[in-house]
Amino acid sequence: MSTFLFSEHVFGPIKSRRLGRSLGVNLLSTQDKVCNFDCLYCECGYTKEPGKIKHKYMSRDDLFKMLEEGIKNSLENGIDEITFAGNGEPTLHPDFLEIAKFMAQMRDEYCEDDQIVLLTNGTTLHKSQIKSAMDFIDTIAIKLDAGTDDLLNLIDSPLSPVHISELVEKIQSLSCSVTIQTMFIKGEKNGIRFDNTSEENILSWMNILQQLEPEEVMIYSVSRDTPLESIEAIPLEKLKEIARRVEDLGLKTLVV
Ligand code: SF4
Repeated sequence: MSTFLFSEHVFGPIKSRRLGRSLGVNLLSTQDKVCNFDCLYCECGYTKEPGKIKHKYMSRDDLFKMLEEGIKNSLENGIDEITFAGNGEPTLHPDFLEIAKFMAQMRDEYCEDDQIVLLTNGTTLHKSQIKSAMDFIDTIAIKLDAGTDDLLNLIDSPLSPVHISELVEKIQSLSCSVTIQTMFIKGEKNGIRFDNTSEENILSWMNILQQLEPEEVMIYSVSRDTPLESIEAIPLEKLKEIARRVEDLGLKTLVV
């Protein structure tokens, strides 16, 4: 299937389904995906050599220049958000704290009403540097694609198994509220059928949402090619039905 890598470190602004008019920031390589997950639906494709970083991270100073230039260039057409996303997990960049701090300074200088958004799988949130970086982020959107460890580890295929209870602890240890983003899909991998809209999964997932009390729950399905060809998108009506159940818990939702 036709997945893709972002070819630039600062891209857009693009109209995002989830985030409005967004200037994207890819802190990672433009040659490879750099992620400790290998989600079956990842638009960047499968990780070629999981755990290995073939291309060096771009230096902090070079990134600073690109970021300032990217923000200045986008001012004419206007942006709503600056989003850390791109070819992998942004918080894996070794200078993420300094970069987040710099980004907040640039936002304050050039576009003070804009939000800084981080799309993350949440696995690094226990690290003190990453925790400190969250002070400079306005919206922390954390991936939670299933309500059980088995299903999450199947769909997101992390390099080391993820335990949802540990992820919940990491999120709860932050001193700010978060957004949860969940990709709903069904398909088959190595003969195993999966469907995270199953009643069993929805009940477990909603139980975790109740523990986390996120500011918002973003609910969506695939709209682009995925590395695993058997993946099927979930119809909008079904996503809306799931959202209604989440709202009955007193949580705000966004279906995109
Ligand atoms: S966490 Fe994001 S970048 Fe990493 S594999 Fe999953 S979708 Fe791709």
